[in-house]
Formats: sequence, C-alpha cells, structure tokens
Amino acid sequence: MNEFGWEQATHRDPLTKLSYLMIYIRDWVTSPDKENFMDMLINVVKEHTGASAVEFEVNTTGKSWDDGYIDHQSVEDRDYDYLFDEMILKEFLFGNGKPTMTITEYKNGNAVVAIHNDGTRIISYENDLQLDYPLNIDIRVSTKCSFGFNPSTGTAVCDFCHESATMNGTDCNYDTLFEKLNGLPVGIELAIGSNELTDNLVIFLERCKNQGWICNVTVNQGHLKRDKDKIIECINAGLIKGLGISYRSGFSAIPPELLNYENTVVHVINGIDSIEEVLA
Ligand code: SF4
Repeated sequence: MNEFGWEQATHRDPLTKLSYLMIYIRDWVTSPDKENFMDMLINVVKEHTGASAVEFEVNTTGKSWDDGYIDHQSVEDRDYDYLFDEMILKEFLFGNGKPTMTITEYKNGNAVVAIHNDGTRIISYENDLQLDYPLNIDIRVSTKCSFGFNPSTGTAVCDFCHESATMNGTDCNYDTLFEKLNGLPVGIELAIGSNELTDNLVIFLERCKNQGWICNVTVNQGHLKRDKDKIIECINAGLIKGLGISYRSGFSAIPPELLNYENTVVHVINGIDSIEEVLA
C-alpha cells in the first residue's frame, strides 16, 4: 500500500496504480459498488495477465497511515468512479496511464457509437448490426501535390502515387463537398488525405468541427516541414483529431511536436521503403 495525495505525483507503473485503486475502493466507495468495483478490478488484472487467481495483500498495522491512504484533498465525491468500466480500467492500469474518455456518442441505425479521445470506436447494438450511415468516410480533397507527376518533366517524386496526383492539380470545391456530407450525424469520422493544408481546407475543417464531425487528416512525411505549424494550429483548435503521417525514408525526421501528439499514427506503405529503412 502507499500514501497518495499529499502532493502532486505521477505514477506510471501498474502496481502503484493498482494500489491506488484498491485504497480508493476501500476508503471512498460504498456497497454495492465497493464489491462490484473490486470484482471488476480482479477480472481486468486476470484477463490482462493471464493469472488464474489474484490475491491482494493488505498491510494491516492498525495505523491507518501504514495501511495506505489517499488524502481527502486529492479525492472526494467518488471522483474516480468513472474508471470502473472494463475498457477504461484496463487502459488506466496497463496503458500509458491516461484513461480514455468518450468525446462523442451518437445513434447510427440500431447502434450507439461511442468515440473515445484516443480514437477507439465502440459500437454497441443488439441482434444484427444495421447502420444508417458509414462510420468513417475516406475523402481525397485535392489532385494537386508537389510530389506528384510533373507534366513538364514527365517525372514524379512518388512515381507510385495511388492518387494520380499531379503538380498542377486542383483543390476540390469545398462547398460542394460540404453539401454532399450535409445531414451526417454528429460523431461521423472523416479520413481526409491532404497533400497540402490549404486555407480552404482549414476552413472546411472548421465547418466540419461545427457539425460535430471528427476529422482525421493524413499527410506525407515530406510535407511536414512546410505544413507543421498549420497542422499544430489545427490540432490545438480541435480541427484535426487524428493525424496520419505517411512515412518515407530520406525525408526530414518527423518533428517531435507531431511525433509526440497522442493521436498520431505513422503509416508505412508496403513495398516502398525497406523494413531496414523503416526500423533504422
Ligand atoms: S505525397 Fe501522396 S498524394 Fe502526393 S504524390 Fe506522393 S503518394 Fe501521391
């Protein structure tokens, strides 16, 4: 057992977090939640570790300080009851220490779709799944890309481009695109392939945010140097929730601000860069 809450501290190891939760259940939760939370805690530990049984050894010296303690100034009113959902609990104990939270929840056909802050999507339904809307829509917003086909030289940086992008292509008409999407419910995810974060694209992202749609944007690593600041602004403004980066060896390293963003995913295109280059 440990003492917590006298001052600010960060704990990342599962044992300390487990200890904290046990004290929380013991001192701050009443029946029947006390028993339910403890059962859930044991189940989550068993499921994650593969243990057939879990035993908690509580130090009982008779002095409450020695038996573990969470100071009342750091917890009150059952502040951490929300952790007692199996998925959240597992992430809290064995993930990176940041519990996930639902950022949006919406009805889609006979399902309720919840999106968590780490990008997890949970679809709850009974019987057969029948959706009224796609959960996620892939959108290519431009045929223009500085790495695409150059008509005057007949060459391209990405001569494999699956988008058939050209250096003299064009951005889409965002008003038309918005009209096509209009009517989608709050919570729908849009996966936008961006060759450049143009001003018109940023305005479109703002309109999507106002609709409650979740925009995830994918950019090529080679464009980060040019678009980094705009991407960071969009993330900070909540216009981009998930950032996909298409890795390419030979380009400048991914800036740490983007690499460390919690919802960044790095994509590797099979067959373009060797495994040795990717792992280097
Ligand atoms: S960065 Fe992407 S869109 Fe641009 S040319 Fe390369 S593969 Fe095509």
